[in-house]
Amino acid sequence: MYTVTDPATGELVEEVPNATDEEIGAAIARVHHGYAAWRARPVAERAAIVLRAAELFAERADELAAIMTGEMGKRINEGRGEVGVVVDIFRYYGERGPDLLADEPLSIRGGEAVLTKEPIGPLLGVMPWNFPCYQVARFVAPNLVLGNTILLKHASICPRSAVAIESVLHDAGVPSDAYVNVFASSRQVPGILADPRIHGVSLTGSEQAGISVAADAGRNLKKCVLELGGSDPLIVLDTDDLDETVKITATARMRNCGQSCNAPKRIIVLGELYEEFAARFAKRVTEYYVPGNPADPATTLPPLASTAAADEVAAQIETAIREGATLRAGGHRIPGPGAYLEATVLTEVTREMAAYHEEIFGPVALVFRAETEEEAITLANDTPFGLGASVFGTDRERMLRVARRLEAGMVYLNKSGGSEADLPFGGIKRSGIGRELGPLGIEEFMNKKPIRL
Ligand code: NDP
Repeated sequence: MYTVTDPATGELVEEVPNATDEEIGAAIARVHHGYAAWRARPVAERAAIVLRAAELFAERADELAAIMTGEMGKRINEGRGEVGVVVDIFRYYGERGPDLLADEPLSIRGGEAVLTKEPIGPLLGVMPWNFPCYQVARFVAPNLVLGNTILLKHASICPRSAVAIESVLHDAGVPSDAYVNVFASSRQVPGILADPRIHGVSLTGSEQAGISVAADAGRNLKKCVLELGGSDPLIVLDTDDLDETVKITATARMRNCGQSCNAPKRIIVLGELYEEFAARFAKRVTEYYVPGNPADPATTLPPLASTAAADEVAAQIETAIREGATLRAGGHRIPGPGAYLEATVLTEVTREMAAYHEEIFGPVALVFRAETEEEAITLANDTPFGLGASVFGTDRERMLRVARRLEAGMVYLNKSGGSEADLPFGGIKRSGIGRELGPLGIEEFMNKKPIRL
């Protein structure tokens, strides 16, 4: 069942039944039949439709933001901001797509060849609830320009986002058999992947879902792209404006109520700065993040996406405290029917504690002390994850030196936790496989076919 439950009130708003196996079979048939015509259209036509989708996303930003607020509790302003990024992603691929797909001459010894760039076929997307529009956009925009068709299974708490996105795409001119939303359950995903008409899968979500989808993809010899969890480090080497650094890092950690895969979940501060940083960070988090209605633009702390998610994060905090961590701010579920949790800061988290190794998907920051640059790098890399990382400081050469040694799929200097259409996004280690966005994002489901002349 796909279910909309307002996370701010706990009220059940809508239930949508799962698709039957027959309906899923019909949806696969549609994207299979749609593929031949879609890939045959000139790339300029596909790109123009994707550009039109960018315009429509911009026009419907308020509507989409309100849907996300009602489904997963996103602050309304953050929802509008998310749709802004979606618009930029569709624009980027609409504008740059034709160049990115142009033939490339290959310099080979003893002859001539050209690299052509072709689609591979209908793809399955399995998408999460934390950024209901953005996560879909980064998979869909490049693949539509490339000529692949798409079957999309959204998260089961986001059926309204799923339908609204499908409407934007169809209204923009994407044929109804080139993009098809399907209310599949996760149990139906293996059957979809076993179908020979589906040629690849992209999943954003938890490690467990990633393992399951990667296993199904492997069994069926299909390409998969996975964007999974992270426990990104943010290293503060030094600063000439401590308050500003505290504000930027707190904002990055608390964005989307802490439910971002690439939020800085572990903040590592060098020795001489640590005490003052931790104190000001805890003060900022306590004073600034006040629970409120996510539909009110003045709210700073919305609910989490569901009460189950809030309970799970609260349990992780409790375990950390029981195991010896120091609670510097927040720490508790807020009584009432909504999925609210105080913005929380923990320090003195050690390797023996679960919180050291786990991803905490909520408004919880861990602040660590490192005595030296070397120790900060070791601490940053001591995680099963490898999504993003940030380095803050005043000396660019020093930051670059540290950045090169971080085991992460992407590193930001004096910035944290964002995403840009032009910049490849993805992780290593248990954070995933493959890249989205930028020029690399259009290559994942591409047949890079050399023709020997
Ligand atoms: P899930 O990974 O369970 O959900 C993401 C998507 O995967 C949903 O569409 C879900 O469908 C689907 N899915 C789940 N299990 C399977 C499966 N075995 N086979 C195929 N598809 C599957 O995320 P949760 O909502 O449970 O969140 C749990 C944790 O996941 C978070 O605490 C966080 O650590 C991580 N997460 C990471 C995200 C990221 O941006 N990298 C985004 C969201 C979550 P359905 O909704 O129907 O179950």
